[in-house]
Amino acid sequence: MTPPRHVVVCGAGVVGASVAYFLARRGVAVTVVERAGVACAASGKSGGFLALDWCDDSALGPLARASFALHAELAKQLGVDYGYRRVDTLMLAAREQGTVRGGHRVPAPPWLDGAGVVTAALGSTETTAQIHPQRFTEALIAAAQARGATLRIGVVDDLMRRDGAARGVSVDGETLEADAIVLALGPWTSRVAGRRLPRVRGLKGYSVTLAAPSVPAQALFVDYRTAEGCLLEPEIFPRPDGDVYVCGMADPQPLPEGPEGVEVDAAACDVLARAAGRVSTALATAPITRRQACYRPVTDDGLPLIGRIPGVAGAYVATGHGPWGMLNAPATGLALAELIVDGAASTVDLRAFDPARRR
Ligand SMILES: Cc1cc2nc3c(=O)[nH]c(=O)nc-3n(C[C@H](O)[C@H](O)[C@H](O)COP(=O)(O)OP(=O)(O)OC[C@H]3O[C@@H](n4cnc5c(N)ncnc54)[C@H](O)[C@@H]3O)c2cc1C
Repeated sequence: MTPPRHVVVCGAGVVGASVAYFLARRGVAVTVVERAGVACAASGKSGGFLALDWCDDSALGPLARASFALHAELAKQLGVDYGYRRVDTLMLAAREQGTVRGGHRVPAPPWLDGAGVVTAALGSTETTAQIHPQRFTEALIAAAQARGATLRIGVVDDLMRRDGAARGVSVDGETLEADAIVLALGPWTSRVAGRRLPRVRGLKGYSVTLAAPSVPAQALFVDYRTAEGCLLEPEIFPRPDGDVYVCGMADPQPLPEGPEGVEVDAAACDVLARAAGRVSTALATAPITRRQACYRPVTDDGLPLIGRIPGVAGAYVATGHGPWGMLNAPATGLALAELIVDGAASTVDLRAFDPARRR
């Protein structure tokens, strides 16, 4: 098999950025085509929380473990501070009104001085970590560019074929030639791939950032009940840059045409900020610095699509990472680069993620 000389990677979210980086590291000429901007969608607005072993009970386990290790290596190799650090992770219970019965079940750090009860330790600095998602994605693209990759802003409309093989993509109506192509369009992947692949949908979620500079490196998963009795599971991630990120509201709103059309519901964001304020007085008084929304790419069976697009030689896909795209991007990118260049992935076994699996 002759390795491709030029690969077009469609989408500059964390998955496309990782594929582009590892291809460029193998000496392949890469063009990344992105509709709006690097990390403009979920990859710029996610939590950036990473866990070594939280996927161990599913087929994602080996991908997650390989990725967790790669994150630690990349933090040294990329030479950019994108907020990678190990964190302790706690579970809490809290209510918008009233208190939770009983006291803390494990020792509570002093900043958790609100109405919440710490119920468990979920992870330690051995097993959990975080990154700033946008800065990590930008660092991967910059590192790929330093190895000769180019970034082109444009809308991929279609996959171009000749004799059953990919010969490039159509970008804003013009053909961009390539020896191989990768679709990493997140929740928009089905719009270009059509029925060649199992369906990829977008699941909308909201998040806010709060300015609270002196909060320690402790990630929180909260079992929370609103005054109306709704159960929410907000996730709270203090970042080294002084922001505290809070996410957790799902919304069934359909996926818009592109990331620029994503609407933010301020009331949903305020629910998240209030939830954070219930567990810590430092968060109750912290101003909201950003209200945002994005769509995570999800498949019907909950597993990503990583591998060859059936029926089109030289066409590949990497998407559908659901709630774990920031974690699993590195091993996805490395394994797909191996598949494209060597003809087989050696980092992780990709069979469970085969896009040709039964739908
Ligand atoms: C609220 C929230 C919190 C999350 N927290 C975490 C977390 O803590 N840890 C974790 O591991 N994961 C987390 N995730 C999941 C993670 O964010 C996603 O799985 C990941 O960002 C998906 O990356 P992607 O590259 O596949 O897609 P995206 O980030 O959506 O990127 C796709 C890119 O393709 C571009 N594009 C689309 N259509 C076209 C086109 N036609 N032509 C050209 N470009 C196009 C888009 O503009 C976009 O930039 C979270 C998700 C959400 C919603």
